[in-house]
Amino acid sequence: MLIKNGNVIVFENNDVKVKKLDIRIKDNEISEISKKLLENPNEKVIDATNKVVMPGLINTHAHIAMSIFRGTFEGSDLYTWLSQKIWPIEDKLTGDEVYNATNLSILEMISTGTTCVNDHYFFSERIREALEKSKMRAMITRVLMDSDGEKASENRINEFIKLYETRDKNNDLITYSVAPHGLYTCTGKILEKARMLATKYNLPIHVHFLESIDEIESIKKLHGDIAVNVLKKYFDGLHVILAHGVKLADSDIEVLKTLDCGISHNPISNLRLGCKIADTTKYLEEGLNVALGTDGQGSGNNLDMFETMKIAGLIQGGIHENEKRISAKDVIKMATINGAKLLGLDDKIGSIEKGKKADIIIVDISKTLDNIKLLPNVDIISNLVYNTEGRNVDTTIINGEILMENRIVRVIDTKEVLKKF
Ligand SMILES: [Zn+2]
Repeated sequence: MLIKNGNVIVFENNDVKVKKLDIRIKDNEISEISKKLLENPNEKVIDATNKVVMPGLINTHAHIAMSIFRGTFEGSDLYTWLSQKIWPIEDKLTGDEVYNATNLSILEMISTGTTCVNDHYFFSERIREALEKSKMRAMITRVLMDSDGEKASENRINEFIKLYETRDKNNDLITYSVAPHGLYTCTGKILEKARMLATKYNLPIHVHFLESIDEIESIKKLHGDIAVNVLKKYFDGLHVILAHGVKLADSDIEVLKTLDCGISHNPISNLRLGCKIADTTKYLEEGLNVALGTDGQGSGNNLDMFETMKIAGLIQGGIHENEKRISAKDVIKMATINGAKLLGLDDKIGSIEKGKKADIIIVDISKTLDNIKLLPNVDIISNLVYNTEGRNVDTTIINGEILMENRIVRVIDTKEVLKKF
């Protein structure tokens, strides 16, 4: 496949640039990037004139089956919402419901430019079934917790082991994490078990971490220590994906710097649930890796990573009263290469580079009524972050395969998914 005449987003020496380049994809990899590549006979050619060609967006924290909970949160707080609304309903969910809700989210992601998602849920074999059919790239898990007793906890561990042991070893689109729900919902016993599983299978840990103020005290009560020390006690030496990290004191950042971890920043969910604003400007300055996530649609509204990029950039102005805060270029990296690093996949995805897997999206910036917000398009990068929406994505390619072209999703039946949902 050849993608011609596009405005390509490339990363060079920590900078983000827009260059007129052609990209050749052979099998599932980017094989050539150059000015004016010649067309080979029988090659699929995509003309990207008046389009931006960029790395696919990486959503580093979501609960994709939670599309079913969109619109359930209003005027509550995180713990009340979880304990009184979400958890009781989740207890009654069926595998088929999770499957159909997952398919809706897959459609939402493919059509808004997300090419890889890090999921955190249960009925994970049904989630995997939907992901494999649609050819999405994803990291999945079976969430662990033991706040509701020993028996339930054992079942979850067994479900995780079964999920991992029954994986298709030839399918490298699907990777796995070990996921204790949070340090406030998991005792030392299950955290120790999570450490053993992650070590045995060589997998990262994916855990909710310091999302809200109540969590700080709950963790102290349950573990007799502060969150970063609990994290260090159980997960030192493992790669850890921390979802949220809103409530980090300066002393917490110092501890995190000694661990192999990074932050999945979920700005819309944090704002929606009233969890305040994570100081991502400071985290990045301190050398922590920060990537972006949407969280589930119940708290995060939707899976449109362009919306998340815009809010992630804007809200730093709410806590930093000067220009010394993250730039649009930082935000583009947070949504792509930083996400790949956070998932431990940066040797494969996250940037448009020769030898990487072809996870690429093409965004329409032509002079049309739909794109009137972009005019005059003097700064493509700024416009991508602040004036582009998921629906401006016209083509989504994952692992060298076209999942959506000219906004027609090819891999799953849109009408059927909407009907079943
Ligand atoms: Zn979450």
